[in-house]
Amino acid sequence: RPSQAALARSASTSVLHRQLNKTYPRAVSAQGAFLYDASGKDYLDASGGAAVCALGHRHPRVIDAIKAQLDTLAYAHSAFFTSDAAEELGDWLVRRAPLGFGRVMFVSGGSEAVEAAVKLARQVHYERGDTGRVHFIARRQSYHGNTLGALALGHHPARRAPYEGLIGRFPVSHIAPCYAYRHQRPDETAEVYGLRAAAELEAEILRIGPEQVAAFVAETVSGSTIGAAPPAPGYLAHIRRICDKYGVFLILDEVMSGMGRTGHLFACAEDDVSPDFIAVAKGIGAGYQPIGAMLARDEHVQTITKGSGALAHGHTYMAHAAACAGALAVQRVIEDEDLLPRVRASGARLRTMLSERLGDHPNVGDIRGRGLFLAMEFVADRESKTPLNPRRKFAATLKDVAMENGLICYPASGTADGVSGDHVLLAPPFNISEDELTLLVERLGRSI
Ligand code: PMP
Repeated sequence: RPSQAALARSASTSVLHRQLNKTYPRAVSAQGAFLYDASGKDYLDASGGAAVCALGHRHPRVIDAIKAQLDTLAYAHSAFFTSDAAEELGDWLVRRAPLGFGRVMFVSGGSEAVEAAVKLARQVHYERGDTGRVHFIARRQSYHGNTLGALALGHHPARRAPYEGLIGRFPVSHIAPCYAYRHQRPDETAEVYGLRAAAELEAEILRIGPEQVAAFVAETVSGSTIGAAPPAPGYLAHIRRICDKYGVFLILDEVMSGMGRTGHLFACAEDDVSPDFIAVAKGIGAGYQPIGAMLARDEHVQTITKGSGALAHGHTYMAHAAACAGALAVQRVIEDEDLLPRVRASGARLRTMLSERLGDHPNVGDIRGRGLFLAMEFVADRESKTPLNPRRKFAATLKDVAMENGLICYPASGTADGVSGDHVLLAPPFNISEDELTLLVERLGRSI
């Protein structure tokens, strides 16, 4: 039974939070797919926060690995030392990464991973003497993080607005996302749409001037803005060919979609595409430690080695030993428990259950995604696909109602261009049980 003091603390205004006037329940414990507040109420964590908690909460092997690391060495600055944990995790990842990837930089989260990819891409051009290549091309309705560089790449109007004067100076332009539900024409196949969407990149490179373009940046599967929208078949392969044609690097942001979430350790494996740089975070540490990583192709790092010989970029907490030990344990659990096939099977099962329960709902326009990275898009009517309520965001309301009903789902917030509706993201733990999936659909259906 919670104490009076605990109860009093259970709903309190956060001192420093984005939504300064809101109150939040205080999470006091967690187990598996559930979080508990101070009153003892349970919340089924159907989105892993923001697609973070790949293994659910309190996995004993991850906790033991972090404790053991803390008992020996928590931290040593990466300018002086490396550690077993960082080396083993790095080896583990590059052995499973697309061909040609040999280097990893560990950072503290997703924005840092994206910034590292952007800066390394630029440094490689610079070391080659290709100093004019400073322009980046990204996509509308994308999100790449909240630091100034990552914010400039992304296209999240509300988060950008106060900082336009700063980030407006970052040389970046945006093309349309690959978003079949809204952009594929009724008279074209998914493949034809994929080619058409990718062709926008070539037009944009030619508009800017190929000798000025450093890289194209895209989420492999779009996440927090338009909600688990996978690339059309052939889209990324065509993007790769266009990048190669003009010497433009391809940076894939798998901060949300990577590390097993789609049923593949690297989401781009499903598209059979190998980028130049990959950013991951969230699922790599699965919420046990703050960690992200930027993976790079060997040849790019060698360009720097042969050039100035030093990375011009870095952070104090790079390759933090305790964070790397936790992430390594997460990866081992995923492999030992054979969780990637399970993600694909449970994802298919959840999609079927959602379609059965909600597929006929007049306001459910689309149920989509890959693996356990799913989204529902809500519309005013399914024929016209008119957004449900562009002023009072439906997904934000749904999040609040779902919390009351003991369910955590992530409201995606794609509002750029005024064309998108409302979406909610589902990203439950890879090891979610059948009973928990049933409970998830029941609580979500009731909330909707
Ligand atoms: N890229 C993508 C695709 C993301 O979804 C996010 C976080 N939602 C980020 C980058 C930024 O990650 P972080 O919040 O850890 O900085």
